[in-house]
Parts: sequence; C-alpha cells; structure tokens
Amino acid sequence: MTQEASMTDRIHGKPIDIAKLKQPVLSDIRGHLEKIERIVHYLSEKETAIEQESCYICDNNAREHLVDIHGFNYVTCSDCGHVYTTRRYTDDAIRRFYEDNAYWAKVTYANKETCQYRRENVARPKVEFAERYLSNTRGVWLDIGSGIGDIVSVAKERGWQAVGLELSATSVEFALEVFGVELQRQTLDEYLDSNPGIIGELSVVSMIGLLEHIVDPMAMLRRVRSALRAGGGVMIQVPNAYSLTTMIQETSPENVFRHMSPIEHIMLFTESSLTRALELAGFEIVAHWYHGLDVYELMVNQILNNSRISSSRLYRALVEAMNDLQMVIDKRELSDRIICVARVC
Ligand SMILES: [Zn+2]
Repeated sequence: MTQEASMTDRIHGKPIDIAKLKQPVLSDIRGHLEKIERIVHYLSEKETAIEQESCYICDNNAREHLVDIHGFNYVTCSDCGHVYTTRRYTDDAIRRFYEDNAYWAKVTYANKETCQYRRENVARPKVEFAERYLSNTRGVWLDIGSGIGDIVSVAKERGWQAVGLELSATSVEFALEVFGVELQRQTLDEYLDSNPGIIGELSVVSMIGLLEHIVDPMAMLRRVRSALRAGGGVMIQVPNAYSLTTMIQETSPENVFRHMSPIEHIMLFTESSLTRALELAGFEIVAHWYHGLDVYELMVNQILNNSRISSSRLYRALVEAMNDLQMVIDKRELSDRIICVARVC
C-alpha cells in the first residue's frame, strides 16, 4: 500500500486524556471483548449475512485477503486500497441490532461521565477544524449520524444553524437530556425528501464515524454533494486501514473489539480510497488530519494477552506517555483515524 502525496494541508495529533475518555472500556476490557463476541453471535443467529462482491468505492472485484476477524474476512481492494468485509448484514439488520442493544451507545458514547469531556475535547476541535477551511458565513450545518449530539451542540454554540440526524432512540434522548439538542430521527434521504427547500443550501455536512457503517457510501456522498451550496463542503472522519491499529489487529485478531470490528466497521478507508470516493462524488480534499488511538490499542492488546499489565508500572507509564507516543504515530500518518475537509468542485 502506498500513500499518495497531495497538496492538502496536513495536520497531526490531538492530545486526549485516554483514561478519562475510555474509562468505561478500560475498567473491564475482557468483559467488553466478550460482549462484542456475543453481539457477533447474536447477529449470526438472528440475521442472514449477504455477500459483498466488489469494492464499495471503485466497484472493482479484484481483492486480496487481509485478515479474518470473528468469522469475517477483511480484504483489500487491489485497485483503490479500500478494505472491507466480504460478508455484511443489511441496513435493516444493523438497525434492528442498534434498536435492541442500547448497551452499545451507552458504553461508547452516551456515558454521562465522559460526555462533557467528549464535547470539549473531541467535538469542539473538529468543528473548529472544519471552520478553518469552509465558509465563514454561518449557514446550515448538517451532521449525519450525530450520536449524542456533541458536534451539533458545539456548532450551534458557534452560530451555525445546526441540524443533526440520528437513528438511535437512545442517543436522541441522551442528546436532549445532556446537551438540550433536538436531533431528527431520520436518514439523509428522509430528511432531504421532507425538506426540499434545503437542497442546494447546506453550507457544511459532517459525517464523523459514519461512512464505514453504511452499505452505499458513494450514494450518500453524491446525495450530500447535491444538497450543498457553492463554496460548501464536508468534514469526514473514517477509520484508517493503513494504521498501526490495523497491524496490531492483524497479529491478534482474537482481541479485536473496535476498528476492525466486523459488525461495526464493514469497511476501512485508506487515504487513497477516501480521495477516490470524494473525487468520484464531486469534491476536492483541502485538508487531512491524522490522529488516533493506536497506542491505546497497543496497551489494550497487551492487557488482553497478559492481565498483570493492567495493574503494573508499565501500564501507568504508558498512560502518562500516551500523547507523546501517539504523536510519533500520527506524524507518520499511521494513526487509526483520518479526518478530511473537502470542498465541492
Ligand atoms: Zn476499490
């Protein structure tokens, strides 16, 4: 895999307090992994998986085996470098799963102890990142897949007319309770079809941790493109397939509960496949931001392999050094997340 050199702005790193942000997971890693395995089992019992014959982005069917994780085969597209599972569940099956399993939203995002921290230290820098490259006039900002509404909450505070779409009832309730934000329980198509006046008027569309879940990312990007006004653009965050976390998970697939978690991420992007997707949909990337949780992944993996580590001096030293260590990974663009801003062209 090679990374294409490009003339975009390139930003690296974002300090976070991992112990604070991931406390619900860190306090019981083994239990968390077992729950993920149970969810995989739940879906395989209740739903029928369908085959994914070709690449979601370039439609090429040539591919190479990457790794098997919890019974799913991840492959790399020979053309654009996109990584995806050869089997997946339908949108409806995934929606049924999220409706029946409020646990997922609670442990990862909708956790009261971490939500204010997440708003200030995760959502706010992302909103400010998009503002640097997209129009200064505060128009309509549409956030698709809003989760607990942290992006919408920050964008509103900063003067945008922010609208958030979120399908999970648990998350919608939570957003209202903690941030006073009213999210719409609609898909993008439902929202645009019921608000035709907004088409061609959107200034910013954000999709944070969204495209890797959905079965037709190209259709979504094209629909978003058609709804943006001239000068508008998107901010997109996706998991990076060409990352240290991927390499860790390739070597210990039995320990995977995030990133290449097949029920959650049916695909992962490379900078090359993300660029291809955006160009095909009519966008031009203006900035990349690499940051990730690869050192966290390394630690979690060590703990799962050796339970003595979680109460060790090694663990405490790594937690203290985590931001510095992660910055080295981010500068090498081996971090497990890519965020980009792209303008309509
Ligand atoms: Zn491809």
